[in-house]
Formats: sequence, structure tokens, C-alpha cells
Amino acid sequence: SEPLLDVKNLHVSFQTYGGRVHAVRGVNLTLEKGETLAIVGESGCGKSVTAQSIMRLISEPPGKITDGTIRFKGENVLAYSNKKMRSIRGRELAMIFQDPMTSLNPTLTIGDQLTEGLINHQGHTKAKAKERALEMLELVGISNAKERLTQYPHQFSGGMRQRIMIAMALMCDPEILIADEPTTALDVTIQAQILDLFKEIQRKMGVAIIMITHDLGVVAQLADRIHVMYAGKVVEEGNRRDLFYKAQHPYTRGLLHSVPRMDADRSVPLVPIPGTPPDLFSPPAGCAFADRCDYAMEVCTQVEPMRVNVEQGHHVACWLQDERAQQAFGKEFPLQ
Ligand code: SF4
Ligand code: MG
Repeated sequence: SEPLLDVKNLHVSFQTYGGRVHAVRGVNLTLEKGETLAIVGESGCGKSVTAQSIMRLISEPPGKITDGTIRFKGENVLAYSNKKMRSIRGRELAMIFQDPMTSLNPTLTIGDQLTEGLINHQGHTKAKAKERALEMLELVGISNAKERLTQYPHQFSGGMRQRIMIAMALMCDPEILIADEPTTALDVTIQAQILDLFKEIQRKMGVAIIMITHDLGVVAQLADRIHVMYAGKVVEEGNRRDLFYKAQHPYTRGLLHSVPRMDADRSVPLVPIPGTPPDLFSPPAGCAFADRCDYAMEVCTQVEPMRVNVEQGHHVACWLQDERAQQAFGKEFPLQ
């Protein structure tokens, strides 16, 4: 059957003073009902742009989706009218961002903000909308919900505000919740609590989640499948086991070395991957990771690696998968 969400060959670029930046370069992803998909990569890898494209939040100009399709329940999202898209957004596709303060209105009570959409766009009565708001605040773990409805954003801590954003996103019972770095601005303890909350929401509401993060550690407990993005492309994808125990791409392996562990002493130094991603004004001809890769071969700088199937559902785009690489490296082959 058809996946809930099906993104094919997505290309997005932005016109800047310096030229055209090719931010997303042929991304494919699918999301099934109730599934959690994580998109992981460094800042600038195109993960947020991919999410914004799904929500049709790319402003044009300077942004432009230049190729590809986005299908939600079989329908082409890119062909929706703006009016239809507005009604889908929030109701069926909801998104939360890193910093709740930028999405919350400081001059309105939490109650007004939570109920606004239901009252103004879905014809709910005030009483019904308020009832739903109370239910959602309780679901996200905010006690004294009744009293809290009358308060303003500044009266809540950062972690509480993120809970409120999650409640707001869930008000209309969306099919897909996209969370872009939802815990990045929070301290570690609060971060863990919010991640637990996502798990609980998924269990209770069956919502499909796309979790976007630069931190593989964040998705270790949460994601069914993980896509690792680099320089606008998905370089490796697989389920949690594939990625944490059988990672094949040197970039994924690098990320694993730099994963801060929730249960570990934070003072343990992480090993960052040396170097920086290529500029995406003129993406390299070969593998975009070649400059930073310990295993780069001549072919890597010349020809883009193809996406190959390592095993069922586990795909990698890297020349090390080519049998000629195995011959060339011999005993020193890095992927044994
Ligand atoms: Fe490294 Fe080559 Fe694989 Fe790119 S294709 S990650 S440069 S080995
Ligand atoms: Mg981002």
C-alpha cells in the first residue's frame, strides 16, 4: 500500500547574493502511519529545508523546489492550492521548531494560542476547544492545566514552553508531526524528558513523527528508521539497528563517534569529524564527503557514489560498497 508520505527526488535551491545554493539534492524518503523517522546531519545539510518543503514553508523567492514530488496520502502536496495547504498545515501536518519563543505570541495567553486554530479554522465552540486544550496540556505533562491556560509564555520555563508547543501541534490530531531540533535549546535533563514525551505521544496518539536533529544520540531511543544527510543528500538510511551497529558510510561512522550519550558523563570529550562540508554553490562532482573522508579513493572525487542496497531497507551511497574498493584495500578494507 501507499506510504503516508512519499518524497521523491526532492531538489531545493536558494538564490543568494553569492549565487544559487543547492541545499537539497535529490532526497527520497517515505513515512508510514505511526512511524518515527529521524533525519540526522550537521547544520546546513538540508534536513530543515527538506522538512520545510514537506510543509510547503519554503518562501519563493529566494527558495525554489526545482524538482521532485511530495505525496501525502497519495496526493501531490506541491500541487495543492495555498488555501488547501493552509488547511492541511496544522490539521494534518504539524511542525514544531527549536525555539518555542519564536513560535509563541508573548502577548496572548497559552489558552488563547492553543484554541485559536480550532475556533477560527475548524468551527469549534470556545468550550469544546478549551476542553481539547486541557486534554492536550495534560497529555504533555503540564499540571494545573486549567490555571496554566490563563498564563502567558514568559511564565513558563523553556522545557515547559516546548511542551506547550507540542500540545499546540497536537491540538488538531495531525497525522504527521515534524519536529526540527526540538530539544537543542534545552539542557540535557529536560532534553531527555521531552524525548520521553515524544515516545509517549507516539504510543498514545499513533502520530507519525519526523525528528530532525544534528545529534544521533537524540534519536537512539526514538527512531524506527534513520536517514543520515550530508551536503543535501541522504548518504545512508536504515533502521536503528543498521545505523547504530552496522553503519557503513564513513560519515555515519564519524557521527557515531561524536554522539554524546545521555547516560554518559558529559565531560568525556567527543571526537568531532575534522573539516567542514563543501559549499553548495557548486557541489563537488564526486562524493561530497571526499575532503573529510579517511578512505577517499580517486574515484570518489570524480564520480558520485550510487545508492546501493546493503540489506533490506539499509542503503548507502559510498564507493566502499563497490567490490573494486574491497580489492584495492585488501586486508586493510575498513568495512570488515
Ligand atoms: Fe569516503 Fe569515497 Fe565513500 Fe565518499 S564515496 S564516503 S569519499 S569512501
Ligand atoms: Mg536546521
